[in-house]
Amino acid sequence: MQWWVCVTIILALALSGCGKREEAPTFAGANLPPDVAGNTAPSAQTAALNASVADSLPLADQQDFDDAQRGLIASDAELRVASAEGTPIWDMGAYGFIEGDPPPSVNPSLWRQARLNNIHGLFEVTKGVYQLRGYDLANMSLIEGETGWIVVDPLTAEETARAAISFAREHLGDKPVSAVIFTHSHIDHFGGVLGILTPEEAEARQVPIIAPELFIDEATSENIIAGVTMSRRALYMFGLRLPRGERGHVGSGLGKGPAHGTFGILQPTETISKTTTELTIDGVQFVFQNAPGSEAPAELTFYLPDLKTFCGAEVVSHNMHNLYTLRGAKVRDAIKWSGYIDEALARFGDAEVYFGSHHWPIWGNERIIDFLEKQRDMYKYINDQALRLALHGYTPREIAEHLELPESLRTSFPNRGYYGTLKHNAKAVYQRYFGWYDGNPANLDPLPPTEAGAKYVELAGGAANLLQSAQAAYDKGEYRWVAEVVNHLVFADPDNQEARDLLARAYDQLGYQAESGPWRDVYLTGAFELRHGGPDEGINLASAIDMLKHAPLERFLDAMAVRLNAPKAEGKEMIVNLIFTDLDVTLRARAQELRLTSLRARPTPGRERDVEDHPRHLSSNGDRQGRHQRHAVYGRLGNRRKSPGLGEILPPLRQTGRAFNIVVP
Ligand SMILES: [Zn+2]
Repeated sequence: MQWWVCVTIILALALSGCGKREEAPTFAGANLPPDVAGNTAPSAQTAALNASVADSLPLADQQDFDDAQRGLIASDAELRVASAEGTPIWDMGAYGFIEGDPPPSVNPSLWRQARLNNIHGLFEVTKGVYQLRGYDLANMSLIEGETGWIVVDPLTAEETARAAISFAREHLGDKPVSAVIFTHSHIDHFGGVLGILTPEEAEARQVPIIAPELFIDEATSENIIAGVTMSRRALYMFGLRLPRGERGHVGSGLGKGPAHGTFGILQPTETISKTTTELTIDGVQFVFQNAPGSEAPAELTFYLPDLKTFCGAEVVSHNMHNLYTLRGAKVRDAIKWSGYIDEALARFGDAEVYFGSHHWPIWGNERIIDFLEKQRDMYKYINDQALRLALHGYTPREIAEHLELPESLRTSFPNRGYYGTLKHNAKAVYQRYFGWYDGNPANLDPLPPTEAGAKYVELAGGAANLLQSAQAAYDKGEYRWVAEVVNHLVFADPDNQEARDLLARAYDQLGYQAESGPWRDVYLTGAFELRHGGPDEGINLASAIDMLKHAPLERFLDAMAVRLNAPKAEGKEMIVNLIFTDLDVTLRARAQELRLTSLRARPTPGRERDVEDHPRHLSSNGDRQGRHQRHAVYGRLGNRRKSPGLGEILPPLRQTGRAFNIVVP
């Protein structure tokens, strides 16, 4: 042994002897076996961290529980909804375990929110205004008109919407739907509309359908163009593959989760394009605020002056919302968003009742003002302070680590990160102003994950060394670090079982510690897929067939254009005929050397002549209810023999691919 090695060891021993040894927390439950899905027990560090959260917040405060239960008319304790084929779509009974004190595997603040979101049923909000809560991710609200119900936000799925309105009719009497209001372009607020109203009925009775301007455009484009990737990522964000349980999914913070049934949409008959728009709908006076580019690209709120009741849609809610959503979407503008809340305060500030598209209402002017002001200030604060740090040269990861809400904002439950989080919203602000590049040249063109992974493993002295070091970090509770280094190994060698196990265990703990429902679900789904693999099939856009049919033609073409396999068609000239039988429109698109100049196409006469022998359907040709359909076939012209099969280059929209990997290469 060299003399200096000797000295170093002696010095190290001496130092470790005199310093006070750090006490590792102990927790008896840490030795419990994994559950059926393989999720490991919460560690001593996780249990201690969650206990400290319970000490830092007034979790025993009963106000929200009183509000969430107020006005209860009826509740179905075993609320379950199935599809026509018997597939379960919604099951509130599965969340029955969420009661009493939080287990150490759930952040106590999230547990509180999950208990609140468990309170479900039919509620009277104020005279003539009712809500069905806990029938889906969002609320369905009913406003009593002169001739029937004005339905606000008919949920995500036809099946849950039908169950909700039937329950209301059972208790409030059988009235027809006299109008529908879609508050915004997210599917949990319109997808179930066909469960409360058929298109024929809407047409026959001239039922007004009110939505914010650009509703159809936004509602269909987000779900079609980027739908496959977003849906795959939504599996993570909403924990759709996770068992419900203390080590699994407890809710999404915003509600329980979206119902996966049959989606539909109806064309609005009237759109709201300015603040304020006054309308009398079925005898009820409405004042609308148009709030585009807030929580959704197309969104409205409204005020019922006669009832002094404000519906905040999803512009405000009982949680910090997403400036950036983990399923992936365009970043939202915190300044605009905050501005709309300020505008609502100015115009509807005498409200005595507030209700929203998610969560429970608030009663009393003073409390409503306080709630709105704090929501407004929160989004503004995140925007301004994240930017202030950016101006000092901080980069996204540093900003997320530094930023904190002031005491007055962070102790208010509706400002807690149950859905969005301060960390990922702070990064979203940076992204909005500066994009993905943080300015550091090392991050300009880094190696892709598999290549970098192999290099890191080599640098660590091989897989065994890396795992040994990562295990030591795990034992100290450094789960974020474990995730970072072991992820390199999994990407270098996805068959390394020990690495997958350790990474999954780190994700378990990160999930158990998260206050945000989506963060918990993301980590636990990562662990789930490391243990059980990804789903066999990707998302089939056919499940959103009704949306495809309503998509404006340009959006439909955009959705096809992003499916075009450019490398396969390179150098080929192709002319494609698109025949929309429902619209009686034929378009000819030219794909030349794959610039696809466009599927922005021109009408073409004589369509029959051009259709290939084996036409492919872009969307469904089986129309359940005999409605108009956006049924397109396409044919190939031109250089047939040299061209690859059309289906290879432009796969039909209804074709499902394999679900792509996320936690492994
Ligand atoms: Zn929503």
